[in-house]
Amino acid sequence: MRRICYAYRRKYLNSQTNERKAAMAYVITDDCIQCGACEAECPEGAISEVDGLYVIDASKCQDCGACADVCPTGAAQPA
Ligand code: SF4
Ligand code: SF4
Repeated sequence: MRRICYAYRRKYLNSQTNERKAAMAYVITDDCIQCGACEAECPEGAISEVDGLYVIDASKCQDCGACADVCPTGAAQPA
């Protein structure tokens, strides 16, 4: 039987079926001060600066929360 980390299961798997949940993209709100910390932290390369504003590519975001963990203003949030 395959063993799965409890935290991984809760975050990424449907509790009833154990199938992988669809990832919910994070977003960057108007509280962003353009520090750039989240871009360097994102393991998926989903965050980039566009015309002076940081944005998250929803098609790349895997909902890991790393951007929110480093954001000094709380601007990076679950959608
Ligand atoms: S939640 Fe994770 S994958 Fe999505 S943008 Fe933030 S750091 Fe990148
Ligand atoms: S870490 Fe927060 S404040 Fe800094 S660029 Fe990212 S969203 Fe903006």
